[in-house]
Amino acid sequence: MELVIDVSDILKQKGSCKEFRGSQPLEDIIYQGERISLLGPVEVSGDITNTGKLLVLNADAAAKLLLHCSRCTKPYDKELKFSFTIRLSKIGDPEDPDIFVYEGEEVDLKDIILEFLLLELPMRGQCSEDCKGLCPYCGCDLNVEQCHCQERVEYQEERVVDPRLLALKKALSANGEEV
Ligand SMILES: [Zn+2]
Ligand SMILES: [Zn+2]
Repeated sequence: MELVIDVSDILKQKGSCKEFRGSQPLEDIIYQGERISLLGPVEVSGDITNTGKLLVLNADAAAKLLLHCSRCTKPYDKELKFSFTIRLSKIGDPEDPDIFVYEGEEVDLKDIILEFLLLELPMRGQCSEDCKGLCPYCGCDLNVEQCHCQERVEYQEERVVDPRLLALKKALSANGEEV
């Protein structure tokens, strides 16, 4: 069931309120170049009140997403819970851009849920707190493998500290040769 709330009943009387609950399916989201899939519809519940001039809507939402780890690139599940309160009006107010506009006697929550979901997406999400990520030299997954790239690099850096080698390195690079 898509979340389109019929407000014809509460529009008749100021102060009236109704509760709603439903599941809103959303398409995949492209966010910062990454495709984010929803592992099911967004579950939403809340209430909507006619305050006279406006409708005020409170909602609690829960979504399950398939994200990719920013360190090791593996996919992982993430459950997001978020709440929001919005004000709605039939006519927009240029002085107050936070007011959402609805048409007729129905409030369609799809775009509103998507907007608040985007705000909740983690910036650089990780599959786990202590994900070791990929080796910057050979690209292996350091969570499952232990390569020796880091040791090798440290060994080479130590050798470069040797002043004779450093002088040689300088002389060679002055001749335009590869070191
Ligand atoms: Zn990871
Ligand atoms: Zn490596």
